[in-house]
Amino acid sequence: MANDHVAIDGPVASGKTTISQLLAARTGRLYLDTGAMYRSVALLALKNGVDLDNEASLVAMLAQHTIAIIIDPALAAGYRVLIDARDVGDRLFDPDIAAAVSTVAAFPAVRSELVERQRAIAAEGRVVMAGRDIGTVVLPDARYKFFLTASVDERARRRQAEFRERGLEVGFADVRAQIAERDRLDSTRAASPLIAASDARVIDSTELQPDDVVARMRAVMDGAPT
Ligand code: C5P
Repeated sequence: MANDHVAIDGPVASGKTTISQLLAARTGRLYLDTGAMYRSVALLALKNGVDLDNEASLVAMLAQHTIAIIIDPALAAGYRVLIDARDVGDRLFDPDIAAAVSTVAAFPAVRSELVERQRAIAAEGRVVMAGRDIGTVVLPDARYKFFLTASVDERARRRQAEFRERGLEVGFADVRAQIAERDRLDSTRAASPLIAASDARVIDSTELQPDDVVARMRAVMDGAPT
């Protein structure tokens, strides 16, 4: 067996975080949310006044900072992110980061830097890795590949509820528009666009609870007929 990794890709708020976290805990794998790395780049750029549209400046900036993802099941996200050894807390999930992240994630040089870091983590042990390009680019040989989807309305409802839990009141139409825009940017970019790998199992979670999605994945992984 080449490896025992699970790749989970899908659009904004398709449930990747919850599902990946559950699946990793239940199958004894390390969970890595690659979105947190792209969000960290956006945060660093906003904090340091680096032009979001300047690929070379973003890469030069990245070389000067460390981004560490520490697993912590006690947190809703399942991990904490340390930038230069400082915990950034919930800041990565603020609306201004969501608005900036797809711009920085579209640059090939930013991506290749982060992909290298992601592969290094996978080389350490079995992972459930979540993102947009895991099954297609980061871990094309992953033993299991899933592509999670859900309707835009359902995803906007989920994201709005997450904001609300954090005390942020954002209108449904605004959340929905931002999700649709991020889908558009992620799917139409030239470098590693969001697309299901040809050998990925597509799961629509619109009508499913997280436990049901995980059960379906485990059935596939156990080789049960589905
Ligand atoms: O998954 P999450 O919404 O946190 O990802 C934030 C953004 O990071 C995505 O909208 C996408 O632009 C980018 N991303 C990416 N490739 C990944 C993971 C995230 O381009 N593997």
